Amino acid sequence: MTEGCLFCAIAAGAIPAAVVHADDQVLAFRDIAPTAPVHLLVIPRSHYPDIVSLTTAMPHLTGHLIDVAGRVAAAEGCAGGFRLVFNTGDDGGQTIGHVHAHVLGGRQLQWPPG
Ligand code: AMP
Ligand code: ZN
Repeated sequence: MTEGCLFCAIAAGAIPAAVVHADDQVLAFRDIAPTAPVHLLVIPRSHYPDIVSLTTAMPHLTGHLIDVAGRVAAAEGCAGGFRLVFNTGDDGGQTIGHVHAHVLGGRQLQWPPG
């Protein structure tokens, strides 16, 4: 657990979240400020700053995280598709420095993003 990290605190159960999937390696929960009818975040329980550092250190954990993202998207009814986003770094729009996948769906999403 990294001191001062919001998502480490959520993974530890110290801060509440609307959890839709939990296992020994990853957690999926509802984004607190959803931008689509389905907006979930999937995180590893262990702290990595972004998707690149996670994948360099633990490629199988990235694979598991993406598998869970697909499962929770399906469970939320995203049969027509969804978007999986890893904002990375300041220019990528990442505001929380604990890797997280956004799972966005439930409406037709536009492209390109801003
Ligand atoms: P990013 O900008 O890619 O780092 O995304 C961070 C996301 O975390 C944003 O979509 C926020 O709405 C979301 N968020 C911030 N605090 C919480 C929280 N306590 N519980 C759930 N989602 C949160
Ligand atoms: Zn963390």
